[in-house]
Amino acid sequence: ASLTAAEADGDERTIEAALRPRTLDEVVGQVRVRDQLGLVLEAARRRGRAPDHVLLSGPPGLGKTTLAMIIAGEMSSPLRLTSGPAITHAGDLAAILSGMNEGDVLFVDEIHRMARPAEEMLYMAMEDFRVDVVIGKGPGATAIPLDIPPFTLVGATTRAGLLPGPLRDRFGFTAHLEFYEPHELDLIIHRSAGLLGVVLEADGAAEIASRSRGTPRIANRLLRRVRDYAQVRADGVVTLDVARAALELYEVDELGLDRLDRGVLDALCRRFGGGPVGISTLAVAVGEERETVEEVAEPFLVRNGFLARTPRGRIATPAAWQHLGLTPPPALVA
Ligand code: ATP
Repeated sequence: ASLTAAEADGDERTIEAALRPRTLDEVVGQVRVRDQLGLVLEAARRRGRAPDHVLLSGPPGLGKTTLAMIIAGEMSSPLRLTSGPAITHAGDLAAILSGMNEGDVLFVDEIHRMARPAEEMLYMAMEDFRVDVVIGKGPGATAIPLDIPPFTLVGATTRAGLLPGPLRDRFGFTAHLEFYEPHELDLIIHRSAGLLGVVLEADGAAEIASRSRGTPRIANRLLRRVRDYAQVRADGVVTLDVARAALELYEVDELGLDRLDRGVLDALCRRFGGGPVGISTLAVAVGEERETVEEVAEPFLVRNGFLARTPRGRIATPAAWQHLGLTPPPALVA
């Protein structure tokens, strides 16, 4: 997609797609995953075979979809995209699989949310490249075996632990994506600014990088918001001051915590005295889905030492209290 066309219709998703790295070499960070995956793909290319199935896990926005597209691109294979929640019946999956050609890459986002019967069909498809399509119901039902050309499944999930063991075991390669370091986000922001034609000063970029929650998608989004601010309220150049003012306006604090993150910490400290409290209760308190709190907010808060998971529930660390400008209860500090 051309960037100017994407911007003309103001479609943020199109812009996001245009900012995607297209080859493994263009991927910033994730060095180990890149090396390992590069080897898997190169070996498959030399053997003239479809690569082993790949499982990608990690919080949203770290590049799972991007990597799936790169796998297909590097193999010069077509990519088919679907998601767990879209597969509600085994028949949905059978329809997708029966339309596949040899070497195709099938990307299933949120694979942990696929319906159970479909999941079982997938086991066989992954292992034997075969499915049993059941025709009819009750005693008269018959299973018709159907061969599927060898394909590569790329599954994405926020946490590999959400997948049943038998499914996890059928992936030949599993990669866990980690949050990005600020200097990596800095590179991504400079690259995106170049593609978007944004004039960016080094300390402006560093400021956005340090507030992007370790997440490229957020880095790219904040860059666009800061650019809006630069164009409307300043002379178009993203300086340190412009970045700071814009991020304050969008309620992204110095550590990159957004409204949801702060909401979770605030509820935890003020309403539940710092915990321990169950994740469902916490989600209700902030008016969000449990999954959103658990998969979007929590990994970042845990990694940055604001929240801890204990067998009895979530607890706020002293850093969380301090970040909210509150005094931690004496028992915590002692
Ligand atoms: P979700 O799980 O929500 O699908 P995701 O992990 O698949 O998220 P992507 O959609 O692949 O995330 O990435 C989000 C954006 O971040 C992309 O538009 C891409 O431009 C950028 N991005 C992701 N990873 C990288 C990277 N390693 N280098 C440069 N840009 C990246």
